[in-house]
Amino acid sequence: MAAERAAMQGRVGLVPTMGSLHEGHLSLVRRARAECDRVVVSVFVNPAQFGPQEDFAAYPRDLDRDLRLLEAEGVDVVFAPPPEEIYPPGFDEWVEVSGPLTSTLEGAFRPGHLRGVTTVVARLFRIVRPQRAYFGEKDAQQLRVVRRMVEEQGLPVEVIGLPTVREPDGLAMSSRNAYLSPEERQAALVVPGALALARRMVEEEGVRDAAAIRCAVEELIRNEPRARIDYIAVAGYETLAELTVVDRPALLLLAMRIGATRLIDNAMLVPAGAEPPAALRERTERRRTA
Ligand code: AMP
Repeated sequence: MAAERAAMQGRVGLVPTMGSLHEGHLSLVRRARAECDRVVVSVFVNPAQFGPQEDFAAYPRDLDRDLRLLEAEGVDVVFAPPPEEIYPPGFDEWVEVSGPLTSTLEGAFRPGHLRGVTTVVARLFRIVRPQRAYFGEKDAQQLRVVRRMVEEQGLPVEVIGLPTVREPDGLAMSSRNAYLSPEERQAALVVPGALALARRMVEEEGVRDAAAIRCAVEELIRNEPRARIDYIAVAGYETLAELTVVDRPALLLLAMRIGATRLIDNAMLVPAGAEPPAALRERTERRRTA
C-alpha cells in the first residue's frame, strides 16, 4: 500500500469499509471516483471495534465478490490487510475521542467500539494519506467522531458524509441484514417506520417536544414483538447532545436488536423555520442542478 501510495499523484480518496459490500458502500465509492484522481477502498473487518460478545467471527466476508464489485467501479487500489499488519504484536497506539460525543448512544451500548473505529481510521489515514475520506450518515455518530478525531489529531483529510442508501421498502442497507431470517427481515421494517413517524411528527405536525417524539416512537416499536430497543434518542444534528425541544435540525437515532441482529439507523428532523444543515442544503442543490 505504501509503495502504491507513493506512486499516486493528484487527489486521493479513501473509502474505509469492512467489506461484504452493498449499494451503500458503492455510493461512497462512486462519489470518491467522481471527485478524486485515485480511489483506495479498504476492506478490513476491524477486530478492535467488536466487543468480546459481538459478531466479529460471524461477520460476513466475501473478498472475491468485493474485488469484483470494486473493479467494476474503477477503484485503483483495494487495501485488504491482514489484522497483524494493522495491529502488530505489542500494538499500543490507541486513538480516542473523549467526552459526551463518544460516551453516549453507541458509546454507551458498545464499550470500546468507537475507540476501535477511531484507532483503525487514524491508522488507515496515516498509511493511505488520502485528501478525502468518505463515510455514510447511516453511522451518524461514527461520522461525527471521525470528524472530531481528524480535528484533534490535526490530520490533513476532508471527511465527507453521504446519505443512507435504503432498500425499496426503506430498510437501510447493511452487511448485517444478511443475518435476518425472512420473518425478522419483515419485523425490521419497524425501523424505517419509526423514522418516518418521527419525521412526520416534526415536519408535518409541528411537534417540538422531544419526549413526546421518543414516546411515540417507543410505542410503535413495542408493537413489534421481535424488536428489543437499545436506545431511541432525539439529539442535535452536529453535537448529538440530547434535546428536550426540537427547535433546530436534529437526528432521531435508533438502535435495536431483532433476534440476534443489531440494527442502527437515523433520520434528520428539520423543524419548520430552522435552517437545514449544510449537508442537506448541498444535497438539495445537487438534485436541483442534476
Ligand atoms: P461498514 O462496512 O459497515 O463499516 O461501512 C463502511 C462505510 O459505509 C461506513 O462509512 C458506513 O457508514 C457506510 N455505510 C454503511 N451502510 C450504508 C448505507 N446503507 N448507506 C450509506 N452508507 C453506508
